[in-house]
This record gives sequence, structure tokens and C-alpha cells, in this order.
Amino acid sequence: MEKIDIKNFTLKDLESYIAGLGKERFRAKQIFKWLYQMDATSFAEMTNVSKEFRTHLEETACISNLVPEVVEASDDGTKKYLFRLSDGMSVESVLIPDEGRNTLCISSQVGCAMGCAFCLTGCFGLTRNLTTAEIVNQVCAVKRDDPVRNIVFMGMGEPLANLDAVIPAVEILTDPDGFQFSTRKVTVSTSGLVPQMAELGRAVTVNLAVSLNATTDEVRSQIMPVNRRYPLQELLAACKAFPLPSRRWITIEYVMIQDLNDTLDDAKRLVRLISNIPSKVNLIPFNEHEGCSFKSPTQDSIDRFHKYLLDKNVTVITRSSRGSDISAACGQLKGRLDELVGQGE
Ligand code: SAH
Ligand code: SF4
Repeated sequence: MEKIDIKNFTLKDLESYIAGLGKERFRAKQIFKWLYQMDATSFAEMTNVSKEFRTHLEETACISNLVPEVVEASDDGTKKYLFRLSDGMSVESVLIPDEGRNTLCISSQVGCAMGCAFCLTGCFGLTRNLTTAEIVNQVCAVKRDDPVRNIVFMGMGEPLANLDAVIPAVEILTDPDGFQFSTRKVTVSTSGLVPQMAELGRAVTVNLAVSLNATTDEVRSQIMPVNRRYPLQELLAACKAFPLPSRRWITIEYVMIQDLNDTLDDAKRLVRLISNIPSKVNLIPFNEHEGCSFKSPTQDSIDRFHKYLLDKNVTVITRSSRGSDISAACGQLKGRLDELVGQGE
């Protein structure tokens, strides 16, 4: 019989599982803390759990783990982790250091089905969803090397296309008996799957980032096929309705692409579109990659766009391309070993 991986369980799931074994529920909390606060990778480590119960658990349950196959470090301190999964697939996570406020960018799928024209992950299509265990194990693995303050679901994949695994992962990340991240420190990013935005908001308290990337349906549909199903007005209505953690804003991500969406008219339309949504804007200059003919915007057009937003009292930051020398910047993850293995050694 295949053993059950308890890394797929939220605390509630673990409680039911343990109750099913005829044991007291409080034991679930003990074990959950071992997994996420002490990073136990075996039942044997759980010294305050009786030996008899540990043996009992081992008969039916197991604890999965991820060990990075390659870790690459960028000149700017960004680190890219490549993990090999049990079926031979691989995914990447990126740690972006910032004086004690490290942000970890994690993946939710192997590849992505959304097909955005500017994104390398999208070029490869979807191979499969990650499990909850594979999502939380990225965090366990990186935390062994460095402290992690913020979690963003902005690695490979569309998290809202994998809610069955992402919702429990968010619960484990924010559980006071689990990883103990504040709900304000965890952000899920979406390309705009409208019904799933509402479902996420109903299920968990978490920050939301929306990859807007264009200010007209025409341009957005051209670069993001999802816009044909859920056009701008529907997407913005879903943003407005999203229940955020208290005193938070929606992050509007805007990948600037030369001569496509980087004009002052775009900036004007953007301000209008988000005027009734509590939001802050992340401008992300397009990161160029092979196989895509789009170009990064000029520094002038970035500055002009940024300044226009500021003048209109929009909270805006322009994201620097951290980690681009190791292909760890936004949109550059492909989660494939290929040329990586040689470089990492
Ligand atoms: N699938 C989710 C989360 C992962 S993508 C989403 O699309 O929101 C994370 C961010 O990277 C998104 O905002 C996306 O628009 C951006 N991105 C993708 N390719 C990029 C590229 N080549 N340059 C800069 N940003 C890119
Ligand atoms: Fe998928 Fe996000 Fe890339 Fe679009 S930008 S293809 S949704 S990972």
C-alpha cells in the first residue's frame, strides 16, 4: 500500500487523519509544528511524540522532502533553486534577498497553460500541477539556507489554475501552528482567472497580485489569451470584490514591453482603470529571453510612465530585474536542467 504524504495535509486534514487512527487530535498540532517549525523530515525526529505512536504513523504515512539539485547565485545576491521532483520533472524557486526581508518566489505548476506571449514558462505549456507538498517543500528547503520573510506565488505556473493544491499550501504557510507567516506576507499572483479569484478569496485570507500588463482589451488579448475569456472590466470588478487582509492593496503587475504598452496613453488609461481599486502598481520592465521578439522598454519610457503614476498619486514601484544574469528574473524560469546543470557545478 502506498503511504500517505502528510506534507499534503493542512492542520485540519492531519487532525482528521490522526482521529482516524484512533488517537487524540492534539497530537496533530505537535506533529504539524515538527514539520514546519522544526523542519522534521522523519517521524524519528519527533522526540516528544511517543515511540509507539511514531511507529504506528510510519506504517501508513510518510514525510516528503525536496533537496535542491542546483543552486545558482546571482551577482546581486538572488538565488535560484532547481528542484527535481519524484517523477523526474523539475521546478524552480527564487530567493530575492533584501536586508532581512527576503522574499521567496515559489512555483505552483510545472510549466503553465496560460500561454502569455511574453513569458518563457508559458512557452513550454503545462506539464502538470504541483501537489501541496511540492509547494510547501520549496519553502522548507530554502529556509534551511536563509530566513524567508515574504512568500510570493510568482514562480512557474498559474496558481489559480491549481487551487486544490494552492489553497491548502496557503493555509499551511499562514497557520500559527505551521510556518506562521502573517497573511500579509503571502501573495498569490494571477494572470486573471476571474471565478478562481473569488474562490481563493472565499477560502483563505491572502494578498492578491494581478498581472494586468495592458490597458486595452485589444492589446491584453494579444499578449494574454486569458483576456479573451475574462476581459478587463470583468477582471477589474473581481479585483474590487476581492477580500484582502486588513489595510492591504491589490498589487497590479504591469510588464512593460517596448512599443506595445509603454506609452503615456497607457499610463493614463492605467490610472483610470484602477482608480476605484485599492491598489499599488509594480512596473516590471520586460525581461528579454530567447524565443521571444519583444524588447525591454527604454529607461526613458519607464521613467516617464513611473512619474505619471506618481503624479496621479498612484503607489508605484519599478522592479529591478534581480537575478537576470542567472535567468531568475520574472518570466525567465523554465525549470529545466538543460544548460543549468553544467553551470551549477
Ligand atoms: N502566473 C502568474 C504568476 C507567475 S508569473 C501570473 O501570471 O501572474 C509572475 C509575473 O511575471 C507576472 O506578473 C508576469 O506578468 C511576469 N512576467 C512573465 N514574463 C515576464 C518577462 N519576460 N519579463 C517580465 N515579467 C514577466
Ligand atoms: Fe503562466 Fe503567468 Fe507566465 Fe502567463 S505570465 S504564461 S500565467 S506563468
